[in-house]
Amino acid sequence: MKCRRIALILLVLSVGTFAFTADTPSTAPEVFAKTIDKITAREADNVKTFAKYSPIVETYVQGFKKDKELGRMPVEDSYFLGRASFKTRLQDDSFISDQRPVVTRNILRQIKEITFERRTGWVPLGFTQMTIIDRGHFDRLHYKFVYRQKEFVGSVRCLVFDVVPTAKGHGMFLGRIWVEDQNFNIIRFNGSYVHPEEGSAFLHFDSWRTQVSSGQWLPTFIYSEEYDVMNDKQPVTLRGQTRLWGYATSQSDTAQEFAKAFTTIQVDSKDAVSDQVDSSSPLASQKAWEREGENNYILRLEQASLIAPESPLSEILDTVVNNLIVTNNLSIEPEVRCRVLLTAPLESFAIGHTIVVSRGLIDALPDEASLAAVLAHELAHVVLAHDSDNSQFGFNDRLIFPDTAALDRLRMVRTDDEEKQADEESMTLLENSPYKDKLANMGLFLKQLEVNKKVLPNLLKSRLGTSFLEITPRLATVKSSSPELAPKDIHQVAALPLGSRVVLDPWSDHVDMNKARSVPVMAAREKLPFSLTPFYPYLTRNFVETPAAAPTETPAPVTLPKADSQPVAQRANSESIDGGNLSKSDRVDIDKVDGGK
Ligand SMILES: [Zn+2]
Repeated sequence: MKCRRIALILLVLSVGTFAFTADTPSTAPEVFAKTIDKITAREADNVKTFAKYSPIVETYVQGFKKDKELGRMPVEDSYFLGRASFKTRLQDDSFISDQRPVVTRNILRQIKEITFERRTGWVPLGFTQMTIIDRGHFDRLHYKFVYRQKEFVGSVRCLVFDVVPTAKGHGMFLGRIWVEDQNFNIIRFNGSYVHPEEGSAFLHFDSWRTQVSSGQWLPTFIYSEEYDVMNDKQPVTLRGQTRLWGYATSQSDTAQEFAKAFTTIQVDSKDAVSDQVDSSSPLASQKAWEREGENNYILRLEQASLIAPESPLSEILDTVVNNLIVTNNLSIEPEVRCRVLLTAPLESFAIGHTIVVSRGLIDALPDEASLAAVLAHELAHVVLAHDSDNSQFGFNDRLIFPDTAALDRLRMVRTDDEEKQADEESMTLLENSPYKDKLANMGLFLKQLEVNKKVLPNLLKSRLGTSFLEITPRLATVKSSSPELAPKDIHQVAALPLGSRVVLDPWSDHVDMNKARSVPVMAAREKLPFSLTPFYPYLTRNFVETPAAAPTETPAPVTLPKADSQPVAQRANSESIDGGNLSKSDRVDIDKVDGGK
């Protein structure tokens, strides 16, 4: 009896969603046309909303050759990092200095002409363009819409349409759209732009939007691909992952921030001043000054959306560092803390007593012990009291510059001697730690890096800190005592695909560990070390969207957003439907996430 009642309620809800069909005695074609008009009007509104933000846009592209047994073998890569702007014209300011002239040239072109140029050079803006279907022409006049089916994308029920351009403009969209059925937001579109200019080409792409805590659906992930692009007379397949984040920081408004601070801070908590030491002695003053410089440096990178705020993932890193500190009987003041650099290139560094590890590196490392080895190296710089020149950032004028200058201004460089000493010290720290006998996978990881260093220079090139390849020899004994690389052995995991571990919230920049259950590797071609895979985010309606004309009410409580991106292979069996964060008690053990054997 109970079952039947539940079924009935579901039916009512389902009809309710399309209630407008019953309201007016419209004919089927009229209803269809009205629905399409709602979708295209909502899309035009959304494009206007995007213009309020200038998120970080990061694109990483790999070119592959196919090997029958080992699957896709990377042969080249490219990397772009910029801040996107969706105002009257799409724009993309690069963080990487040698990419800036190219970008300046391209923003002068009409949006439809900005494409991915085949072999004559990359146009980063071409990837940002894939966040928008068609600015200005997306309507029934320029496109034919064909209804296909109802389908769930994650837990969001969608109407699915095929979209075919009826006009012959450059760069019109041909493909499929998924429209959530409550407010008619397009949350995914997949296809390509057609009729490229002479000498250019458009990639195929799959573009996703995520509902963030402001209630809006904003562009977050784009997977792009193209077959048979010629590279040295050999056909390669290109795959690209574009991620957008930093939405909240990109629209921070000084006046509003000030007002917020005034209304929320009522009392000075003890924590608010805990970092300030009693600076009555010269050494204490010196240390306080250095810590202030270190704090300023980290906060500046946080404001630029390059470093995540304190998050569940940085707490996991803190735990691993604490394991090293405790087992080595170290007493370090002020305490060592960890942060996550939000970008893909594999790098890490320490400034003062703060250890920073990149998202890409955490993604690719095979297990907790190899993460500990990375952290041990940075902890060694701290233990050896290597000066990271953080005292210069005690002067705030050094931190006032446009975000896009951050990689040039805030680069951390170490001498070869310091690197060598830190490498030796890190071995000592690991010897005394619980990770001592578990470093075989770290050795394999280093060997895999060696194999890929010529073909993936952009993934391995550091942008802010120190790349793995800049420290030679790194963990030489760990590397030499590890087994031989066996690409055909499905039980040997040297490095994971990118996107394996870290889940990044595109609104708040918080990072967490991916909770999805791992999928067993069935064949050598599924090992995918350092590889790119399609995105398959599990979309949810986490937030109440305020209807435009609704009376103002107290907003409903919201849960923390979940910006879930993970390779398609890892999505299967996932049970995480809601966007709840991991509490400390049910936190995923990094070894159990994937690859830990
Ligand atoms: Zn180092």
